[in-house]
Amino acid sequence: MNQITTDVAIIGAGPIGLFAVFQAGMLKMKCHVIDTLEAVGGQCISLYPEKPIYDIPAYPKILAKDLAHQLMEQIEPFSPTFHLNQRVEQLSKQGDNFILETSNGSIISAKAVIIAAGAGAFGPNRPPLERLEEFENKSVFYMVKRKEDFRGKKVMIAGGGDSAVDWAISLAEIADITIVHRRDKFRCAPSSHDQILDLAAKGKVKIVTPYQLDQLIGNNGILEEVVLKDFEGNCKNFPTDILLSFYGLAMDIGPIENWGLDIHKKHLAINPVTMETNLAGVFAVGDICSYPGKLKLILTGFSECAIACHSIYNLVFPGELLHFEYSTTKGVTA
Ligand code: FAD
Repeated sequence: MNQITTDVAIIGAGPIGLFAVFQAGMLKMKCHVIDTLEAVGGQCISLYPEKPIYDIPAYPKILAKDLAHQLMEQIEPFSPTFHLNQRVEQLSKQGDNFILETSNGSIISAKAVIIAAGAGAFGPNRPPLERLEEFENKSVFYMVKRKEDFRGKKVMIAGGGDSAVDWAISLAEIADITIVHRRDKFRCAPSSHDQILDLAAKGKVKIVTPYQLDQLIGNNGILEEVVLKDFEGNCKNFPTDILLSFYGLAMDIGPIENWGLDIHKKHLAINPVTMETNLAGVFAVGDICSYPGKLKLILTGFSECAIACHSIYNLVFPGELLHFEYSTTKGVTA
């Protein structure tokens, strides 16, 4: 297996990993980016692609998927290399360089490492239903990639939190929605709570509580009915084309725990002056890092990328003086 050599290896292609490419590029540092997911954009693309974000500076409102696309456009001049569908399993030091080994056997040697791994590789909490696998990705989904895919369908939404209620509200415009929750009250924003009750009162959404998913009925991955059960064992059958299950996420920082990093409650302790972890040359930005006053926001993560890349410069170009310059002064050149 060929070893790839680069200036900076970035673990995670979420919004913060992508912006780290930009900040590194502005300082003439080349990047390779690795992500477990098949697409770039992290949580924005995987969890809420069609939700508007309101707190990105200079964008009064931007869909999460559009933010990822804009970031890709912004980093295009720096031609980063992406290694998708693979997890970084090992991180070790060889001489002055770091060696990253991924789950599909790629080996990347870098002068510095930026960990932008968010909450780790994440996956949905799956409902404990028989035959679930047969229906997954055909009739059972854990996220909405494209609302239009559900137009005119009978959609059962399971869960009682913000995601379940927000999607029930949003999809009620185009689909026949039933929402099932094991408690009588939803755990969502008060305004969403009012909205879902209002839609139910107008007959635009059916609310079924306190019930739980009990059985999936159908063949070859095509769902026909979902059986719901209450706590006394009473069952109800609902004709259903699509089940959207929103039982939260299981986050797993996985192999990162074994790399000798200072970790508290699944977050990497860093020095906020440099964004460096306890391992010299390994930096952490975005949701994965923690320091007093840390806010888990995209805009905070963007700023952390600028700090990390300025700290890394001398690892990539030892002995060279870094003159701080505005982008308006130096422009964007690879
Ligand atoms: P992530 O987006 O989590 O990306 C990390 C990436 O690292 C993932 O793609 C993961 O697969 C990858 N990874 C992890 N471990 C490895 C490994 N070992 N090898 C390879 N790849 C790995 N923030 C806001 O600022 N404003 C909002 O309005 C807002 N709304 C939100 C709404 C929802 C529903 C959610 C869930 C979050 C929201 N956030 C919002 C939070 C925001 O999405 C996160 O702060 C942001 O995604 C963090 O970016 P990140 O790049 O640090 O991590």
